[in-house]
Amino acid sequence: MRRLLFAANWKMHLGPAEARAYLKTFRTRYRRHDDRAVWFFPPAVSLEAAAEAVREREDLLAGAQDIHWEAKGAFTGAVSAPLAAQAGAKATLVGHSERRQLFGETDEDTRKKTAAALAASLVPVLCVGETLAEREAGHTLPVVKRQLAAALGGVEGGALRRVIIAYEPVWAIGTGRNATPQDAALVHREIRAWLAAHGAGETRVVYGGSVSLKNIAELLAEPELDGVLVGGASLNPESWAELVQTAAG
Ligand code: PEP
Repeated sequence: MRRLLFAANWKMHLGPAEARAYLKTFRTRYRRHDDRAVWFFPPAVSLEAAAEAVREREDLLAGAQDIHWEAKGAFTGAVSAPLAAQAGAKATLVGHSERRQLFGETDEDTRKKTAAALAASLVPVLCVGETLAEREAGHTLPVVKRQLAAALGGVEGGALRRVIIAYEPVWAIGTGRNATPQDAALVHREIRAWLAAHGAGETRVVYGGSVSLKNIAELLAEPELDGVLVGGASLNPESWAELVQTAAG
């Protein structure tokens, strides 16, 4: 059975009380489907509240938006993978384009963060994707493959199968301009080929970038997509529940 993943990246929204209220509403509105999982990535301060709110549901999970690669130490403001796990995280985003672009995260950082996530038994959701300039220069595939190789080059097949890849073209994030299912499928196939060559053909590949109620059905009709990573359209629990439901048919 194709089990779709719906990942909600709340970015810098929803504090602990708001997260609890959101998940209460979501759980009321969302009718569970065995063929889909819904993961929530709240800001660090809301991680414990979110994890607690989904604790008894196998199909729902909370994860961190970012981790530091060290397990502990003098890194003011940072959250390590073991600390996120203590707060209830089961997964973490790695290399989100906002981390790369706004916080100067490098390919080498994504390598260390992926390794730290795996060591702490968190599922890394590795975000890759090209900027508009890179796309227009015809560099989409080399950029994506460079990001994969940098973050995952040292990860062996068994661990690699635990990683999830989010193809998120930077030009599509928060812009209202999504990749077409065909555009995304082309890149997903290349990502799968790269993973297969490294012993992990079954790794899940999801798409992110201006996914909404309007385009979800069309995007998920494309079999190359194992799910979606969604920012803006995940912030309202009612419409997010509807979005997850819509794709269920
Ligand atoms: C994201 O933040 O990963 C994202 C895809 O955002 P949006 O859905 O708002 O484009």
